[in-house]
Amino acid sequence: MNFDYDPENIFAKILNGDIPCEKVLESAHSLAFRDIRPQAPTHVLVIPKGPYMSADHFCQWASEAEIVDFMRTVGKICEAEGVEDGFRLIANARDHGVQEVPHFHVHILAGRPLGRMLDPA
Ligand code: 5GP
Repeated sequence: MNFDYDPENIFAKILNGDIPCEKVLESAHSLAFRDIRPQAPTHVLVIPKGPYMSADHFCQWASEAEIVDFMRTVGKICEAEGVEDGFRLIANARDHGVQEVPHFHVHILAGRPLGRMLDPA
């Protein structure tokens, strides 16, 4: 797999300050901010600061420090947002996963019943 990162993507522009975001948490290697089109009362995106285009890219090539930092950030968001009733963690990738922004991110969705994960085909 050739991971060809596009440095002009929207989340790269958020990271370098060209586009504003509603920041929730920032750490050494990660940034969390609210989705501009929220699909649940809690809809937070967590992204690594490094140039990774998808979950498989990040999981294969990121350093252990980046991976630990990213997962700890997800945990802190869950704690801060109060997800006792449940939540969903989503990472879309490429065409079949319907990934809109080609910078790796996870969606943290919570605050209402979220339905089944996928509609039956
Ligand atoms: P994907 O389909 O790539 O997994 O999801 C990308 C998400 O990024 C979408 O939920 C979309 O609403 C969100 N998004 C796209 N552009 C922006 C933006 O400029 N700011 C923020 N905060 N979210 C964005």
